Amino acid sequence: MPDVDAAEPRRKSADPGARAAPAKLSAPQQAMRRLGLVRDVDLALHLPLRYEDETRLAPIAALREGETAQVEGVVGDCRIDTRSRRQLLVRLRDDSGELLLRFLNFYPSQQKQMAPGQRLRVRGEVRGGFLGREMVHPAIKAVEPGAPLPQALTPVYPTSAALPQAYLRKAVASALARAPLAELLPAPLVPKGLPSLRQALQFLHQPPPGTPLPALDDRSHPAWQRLKWEELLAQQLSQLQARAERARLQAPALPAREGGVGTALRAALPFALTSAQQRVVIEIGADLAKAQPMHRLLQGDVGSGKTVVAALAAATAIDAGWQCALMAPTEILAEQHFRKLVAWLQPLGLTIAWLSGSRKGRRREQMLAQVASAQAMLVVGTHAVIQHDVAFARLGLAIVDEQHRFGVAQRLALRHKLDEQAQEPHLLMMSATPIPRTLAMSYFADLAVSTIDELPPGRTPVLTKVFADTRREEVIARIRDAVGQGRQVYWVCPLVEESEHLDLQNATATHAELSAALPGARVGLLHGRLPAAEKAAVMDAFTQGQTQLLVATTVIEVGVDVPNASLMVIEHAERFGLAQLHQLRGRVGRGATASACVLLYTAPLSPTGKARLRAMAETGDGFEIARRDLEIRGPGEFMGARQSGDALLRFADLQADEPLLQHARALAPRLLVEHPQAARAQVERWLAGRAEFMKA
Ligand code: ADP
Ligand code: MG
Repeated sequence: MPDVDAAEPRRKSADPGARAAPAKLSAPQQAMRRLGLVRDVDLALHLPLRYEDETRLAPIAALREGETAQVEGVVGDCRIDTRSRRQLLVRLRDDSGELLLRFLNFYPSQQKQMAPGQRLRVRGEVRGGFLGREMVHPAIKAVEPGAPLPQALTPVYPTSAALPQAYLRKAVASALARAPLAELLPAPLVPKGLPSLRQALQFLHQPPPGTPLPALDDRSHPAWQRLKWEELLAQQLSQLQARAERARLQAPALPAREGGVGTALRAALPFALTSAQQRVVIEIGADLAKAQPMHRLLQGDVGSGKTVVAALAAATAIDAGWQCALMAPTEILAEQHFRKLVAWLQPLGLTIAWLSGSRKGRRREQMLAQVASAQAMLVVGTHAVIQHDVAFARLGLAIVDEQHRFGVAQRLALRHKLDEQAQEPHLLMMSATPIPRTLAMSYFADLAVSTIDELPPGRTPVLTKVFADTRREEVIARIRDAVGQGRQVYWVCPLVEESEHLDLQNATATHAELSAALPGARVGLLHGRLPAAEKAAVMDAFTQGQTQLLVATTVIEVGVDVPNASLMVIEHAERFGLAQLHQLRGRVGRGATASACVLLYTAPLSPTGKARLRAMAETGDGFEIARRDLEIRGPGEFMGARQSGDALLRFADLQADEPLLQHARALAPRLLVEHPQAARAQVERWLAGRAEFMKA
């Protein structure tokens, strides 16, 4: 029987002590600990991946090709065949017919076990062979006539190579009998029609014969429902606990002040804030004025104008005498922010420090000194850079762009930046990929959310077309037309996984190809390897309309703003993530003319690639894009949880189980008040060892 190496990653961290297993544990015991199966309740909550039905015997004559079945019969003949490949052939007979068992690898002991006259129970997939129906490498068991059949389906657990399935089955069965699974909540609070937790687990580990497998597979069975509800409830409770704990934390109060940098910045802006921007600025300001740390997400579609909101928040902190750090996941993104903030704030007399991985040596030392002495009140850089070795004089506000990529561990690290002062900074996260509703109700229930749901005036919707790259010539003809009409065009080059060098090669070749195909047009080339000054020059030439076509790697993902650009071509669009495609597309449609985005792909498309491109063609709405992204990728990847090693719900599925989530969400606050002890026990049962992560 094959072992299935599919243990949920989250279990690995269930008990920090699990890794340092004492040497006297046996190998399977150690393997169990590594899977986080430490307490009896951990084992009881370790559920089967699937089941094998050994409760029934099929007559050999009734076997159908392709089905997995169990039969019992007597060996008629057992011999080693050497005509082609050496193999063991066994003929098994019951009252109805005969079945061939074929073993390509076998031990002499197996040959003895299957001696003629022996009664065997065998289980395997039925195949139609040359010599009639057969099973290749079935599971076999010698039995006495009339031996009883198991009284439950046989569970198959997720396990690892070092932990044999049979060992784990026994361990789970005995732990299940011992585990403290008493009902924690009064029965009326449990959704109607669901079994008790013990009944549910008993059923799922040992389903009685005849249980319909589809209801177990799709987890719609009431036993599954009970389990998922329990899990969601534990998660909701822990979110509420985290919120209560956060309310006890201290942060510097940063009340808005008239006549400072904030006032000057507003006056200097070349545009009026949209009403959505005004609203979120007020929401953020109210949080900053409090002596509890803000924990807020600012979400708004690409181009909705989050940067200026961030700048105003930074100004509020600075006016109150505290420093602000602005972090972005990539150097390029950080640099775009830096440029914008310098343009806005430097004329007002502020010193802004730039910290990046590539800035080293004396200039970096200088920057660090400025930050440590509070001469620089605003610091911009990548997540990693700001997180590690930067000492702030008085950090009051941290702004994190694209928080989905900002892991839990990083948030924890940030929290410790202000430790000396027994305070922590306010935290504002920004994202163009809004959190889907179900995630907002669960994982981010403890997060305040501000939404910019309005684009600055003068934007037009973008028409998106998906073309196979065999239609490249057609696309180039469209570019020729656009350029002929005085428009400008972006051509985004494929992303080559982890190879900046190849990215560059591709971009250079495409630049040459397009320059040749479009005589008379001036074509710029922008990529991450260009020195900053050259990058700026290439960008300026495009912004001012001196070049008509800009060939670029994903450098332009963010921050580029050229209203006259009305066409974007994305080559190998299937290699980009959905959020990234949406970000890229946001670079066009910024002027008054109708804009288009062409997604070129190379066949064959994977199913997820197809789903992504279809989503892009069907909607321009960031919320819908985020919802589809969640659907395609699942919450774990959506949130970048893979990287942080923190996996999500084990059993519940946020989309499918929304009604259960709603129920748990409504119940949790009441439980905390009316049954605080039960609430604590519930969280302990499900989430012991994860407390620190859940609070972040
Ligand atoms: P995002 O939310 O995607 O980060 P940005 O902050 O980069 O968007 O803003 C997109 C563009 O819109 C920028 O050029 C910005 O200066 C401009 N912008 C922001 N707010 C307004 C506004 N209220 N009116 C006009 N333009 C604005
Ligand atoms: Mg932005």
